[in-house]
Amino acid sequence: MSMRLDKYLSNMGVGTRREVKKLIQYGKVMVNEEVVKIIDLKVSEEDDHIKVYGKTIGYTANIYIMLNKPAGCVTATHDLKDKTVLDLINHKRKKDLFPIGRLDKDTEGLLILTNDGQLAHRLLSPKKHVPKVYYARIKGCVTLADCKRFSEGVTLEDGYTTMPAKLEILSAGSESEIHITIHEGKFHQVKRMFEAVDKEVIYLKRIQMGGLSLDPNLRLSGYRELREDEVQALE
Ligand code: URA
Repeated sequence: MSMRLDKYLSNMGVGTRREVKKLIQYGKVMVNEEVVKIIDLKVSEEDDHIKVYGKTIGYTANIYIMLNKPAGCVTATHDLKDKTVLDLINHKRKKDLFPIGRLDKDTEGLLILTNDGQLAHRLLSPKKHVPKVYYARIKGCVTLADCKRFSEGVTLEDGYTTMPAKLEILSAGSESEIHITIHEGKFHQVKRMFEAVDKEVIYLKRIQMGGLSLDPNLRLSGYRELREDEVQALE
């Protein structure tokens, strides 16, 4: 179906009719890689590639959202009982989005929501060993001996031995603060690794995935689209 460029852009949520007219007049809109300043140019969703400020607009475009997940919601698209991470998102193409990987209901921090199945597959592939970094508060005194055990891989209660993980102590006492980097994503992995050394995770937050760090300006439940360089950093 074809329609006027300004109508198409406002339908896609780029801005009001007035705002998108300005964007077109100021040369911010490209159709098939050429700047177009014709407000009523007929464009077609199926055949034309439309960009605003260099970013593809349309149903074929990929969407990447960084969410600072709060505790209390589950990493799922639907749930009969609990609030889901998607309930926090207000996006015109929300129904296409799904989370990449999983954080426990009580875990906070970096979660990526996308419609890009290929990226999700690459990031979650057990062969890729994409690093994930967590900040945690631990009940008990984390020691250098724990760091050594983690660096050798820890055997969990079900007999599985994890890959080597980097454990850094930020502070130690009756409660300790740590950063941990793991390269796989077993169920409750960080919590189970600490259980294996007789300690308990009392707070867990993911702060990095691949080359992407959680934006420190995002409040809990806050989210924003990733920039192009951030999507690249994930690959
Ligand atoms: N490890 C856990 O135990 N929980 C998470 O949510 C993520 C990693």
